[in-house]
Amino acid sequence: CGIVGVLGSNEVAPILVEALKRLEYRGYDSAGIATLNDGVLDRRRAVGKLVNLSDLLVHDPLAGKSGIGHTRWATHGAPSVKNAHPHRAGNVAVVHNGIIENYRELRAELAAEGIQFSTDTDTETVALLTELYLSQGNDPIAAAYKTLARLEGAFALAFLFDGNDDLIIAARKGSPLAIGHGDGEMYVGSDAIALAPLTDRITYLEEGDRAVVTRQGVTIHDGNGKLANRAVKKIKLTS
Ligand code: GLU
Repeated sequence: CGIVGVLGSNEVAPILVEALKRLEYRGYDSAGIATLNDGVLDRRRAVGKLVNLSDLLVHDPLAGKSGIGHTRWATHGAPSVKNAHPHRAGNVAVVHNGIIENYRELRAELAAEGIQFSTDTDTETVALLTELYLSQGNDPIAAAYKTLARLEGAFALAFLFDGNDDLIIAARKGSPLAIGHGDGEMYVGSDAIALAPLTDRITYLEEGDRAVVTRQGVTIHDGNGKLANRAVKKIKLTS
């Protein structure tokens, strides 16, 4: 399972699929990507090998220069298109590796708000909660940060927002996540290998970190909400 994200200057769908291929070694049962095309959020998902997602994208392409991608190893909900990531609720799309331990409580809380569920996953609660906070007037960063403060468990997460072509929010708690630095481009990946064709300049998020990524760079806060200074490392990869 793996996560990738790209704020790029070229069509991003093939770049996302290529980056996901580099994470295939981790195993997965389904895959998907979401992009912003002129600010409009859309997604494609497929069960099975990445070639199924690639085939789908041939027949039903996704344009755009900003996007997130995911390979899923199902923990909550069977492997199916409906349960595949990215999960979308209104203006937000979310990819997640790991488990949201308190998803039952969050589901109950969302259900009490009259919110409907369309998947069997723990992850959907993250998208729905973020959308709820957005609908209450929070901007994307505040909505994502408020959501993150509610989550228990182990996770790596990336958020993409409709109408926000230059923003990915990433968070790490118990699952590794790396930020890649390009020239006027920025990347997110489960590991540096996923980003190897794109950049060799990597910032590893530390436990509890959350990151606001734009094409200009990354701002990282630690688990206490304090601005964190994380090094940019030049990595050497053999493959
Ligand atoms: N718990 C999530 C799910 O079952 C994420 C699994 C993963 O790490 O890919 O959809």
